Amino acid sequence: MIGTMASRKMSAMTDEATGDGKRKRKLRTLGKLDVETFRHPSDAKATDALKKIPGLDKVLAKILEYGLERLYYVDNTASNLRVTPKMFPRLYKSLTWATKILDVPEPEMYVKLDPVPNAWTYGHTKPFITLTSALIDVMSDEELFFIIGHEVGHIKAGHVLYGTMARNIAAIVAMLGQATLGIGAWVGQGLVIGLMEWYRCAELTSDRAALLCVQDLEPARDTFMKLAGGTTRLAAEMDRGEFLRQVQEYQEVDRSTLDKAYKVLLTIERTHPFAMQRAKELELWFESGYQDLMPRD
Ligand SMILES: [Zn+2]
Repeated sequence: MIGTMASRKMSAMTDEATGDGKRKRKLRTLGKLDVETFRHPSDAKATDALKKIPGLDKVLAKILEYGLERLYYVDNTASNLRVTPKMFPRLYKSLTWATKILDVPEPEMYVKLDPVPNAWTYGHTKPFITLTSALIDVMSDEELFFIIGHEVGHIKAGHVLYGTMARNIAAIVAMLGQATLGIGAWVGQGLVIGLMEWYRCAELTSDRAALLCVQDLEPARDTFMKLAGGTTRLAAEMDRGEFLRQVQEYQEVDRSTLDKAYKVLLTIERTHPFAMQRAKELELWFESGYQDLMPRD
């Protein structure tokens, strides 16, 4: 439970894990944290919709167990660097803090040489996190902590099975199509749309988990700003105030236009919600749900 004596005692630890040496602050742990206390309502709704598809969970789990999970894992361990207390110790510290705060067993984490800033969590029985080198280059330590918290949040919220599928759905539908003379591909199209919608909703829950880890809105905002258009070379010229103004403007886009945009963008497999939407959703939650979950001093 939150705010118990035990969690208060634990919360007295000083965080030196994630700062860039700029500031020191205390991170609080939250004891036995129940994911339903911070799951975004859209995630809950979209997950219910997927769960209503008879047998879907079993089929997806089987696809993963019969090889895909192993393939992803082998590919990952064979070509990427594993984060340990000695290899990228700052990243490792952020991982241990995120698992401590979110009350999740520690997964393996890897760094992949890749020019696209990105992070993902794969697997079903044994989830693992991968961060790309470009992501590490563009983000500060605090922002990386936010991103690692987001990925650990996916594990906490039980997103990993559907998430792995959503990220690889094109290959899976093609595979099913071949295996079932085209019927799989036809069924698959509905599943693609369902999974993509679910994925965008799941992102919002994981953003909340990430905020519970960093316990500060600033790195969250900066992460969204950089995900939208981060550049290392012009980093000093990025303006947070301008970004927040843009988030404000985005709020004036009405829901139906947004839905239409997502449907069109589906054709290019957009899995993530718009950065502005994520920023707005998290700002709203910071004022309400987040404050309720944090132990009071
Ligand atoms: Zn995510």
